[in-house]
Amino acid sequence: MKTILVAGGAGYIGSHMVALLVEKGYDVVVVDNLCTGHWQAVKGAKLRVGDLRDGNFLDQVFSEFPIDGVINFAAYSLVGESVTNPLKYYGNNVAGSQSMLTAMKNHGVKKIVFSSTAAAYGEPEKQPIEETDRTEPTNPYGATKLAIEGMLKWCDRAYGIKYAALRYFNAAGANTDVGIGEDHNPESHLIPIVLQAALGKRDHVGIFGDDYPTPDGTCVRDYIHVRDLASAHLLALEYLDKGGESGSFNLGNGTGYSVKEIIDTARKVTGKPIPATVEPRRAGDPSVLIASNKKAQEVLGWKPERGLEQIISDAWTWHSSHPDGYGK
Ligand code: UDP
Repeated sequence: MKTILVAGGAGYIGSHMVALLVEKGYDVVVVDNLCTGHWQAVKGAKLRVGDLRDGNFLDQVFSEFPIDGVINFAAYSLVGESVTNPLKYYGNNVAGSQSMLTAMKNHGVKKIVFSSTAAAYGEPEKQPIEETDRTEPTNPYGATKLAIEGMLKWCDRAYGIKYAALRYFNAAGANTDVGIGEDHNPESHLIPIVLQAALGKRDHVGIFGDDYPTPDGTCVRDYIHVRDLASAHLLALEYLDKGGESGSFNLGNGTGYSVKEIIDTARKVTGKPIPATVEPRRAGDPSVLIASNKKAQEVLGWKPERGLEQIISDAWTWHSSHPDGYGK
């Protein structure tokens, strides 16, 4: 494997994937329509701007480069928006992956690592969540990702395209060596919001509910460093290259932190007061989501290396040096 196609490589997690592949000496081609991604985040790779749903565009890219494997991050990912506009999510996420798989089939590319989500599980039946647990998404975002996992399974059977679907828990952090990080507009994720409050860009953080059945009443999530996520993708690609079986894998640290614990850790890391107030619950938030990462450890040989303080301190380095993200 030499040349890797990263779809959505200008986005938050995709750009960290590109940085790792470039560091490891791969030739990297990024396709991205830049509707939410940033060209400035693509460092050391070729960028072709276009939409996955455009089959001619993908045909051109697959003809131009000798692609050995694909990593697909390209998707809309706002849970709330997916509830109010499900067709936008099915139309982009599912149709984009279908178009990518069609191009792979036509060009004889047989390996894909797919960016899936813990939202595929919906309300968990137990903690920590294992890959064999019930998958009943409670929003269209999770449903589109699960639908794509189904499409991958059938494409494996029919065309021999091998896949690893990686179900992320809460991605956070930044790559301070390369100078890339999280820049969403609007921002909805907890850690960047907390750090924007530390920077004075927001006057406070709203804690969405403190009456959950958790030790301090706030929701518990499993935060995983984006660089650890990227490492898992590379291991998954290498695993498929060695003939590994297709499958789905959880990617999380296996440890849960509450919203209040995140804010407290951020206060410690930044030295800033970070005002916070309790607000009503956000619709659709499960109280606890913690990954079992046993399968990824055993099958892929993955071990997350960075804990919560490192996640927040790397994110802080990014946000404090790029208060306006990548800028205009
Ligand atoms: N959260 C919060 N205030 C915010 C943003 C998020 O209290 O301004 C909570 C949210 O309810 C959830 C956790 O922080 O329990 C993580 O939310 P995020 O949107 O970062 O990720 P999700 O778990 O929804 O994928």
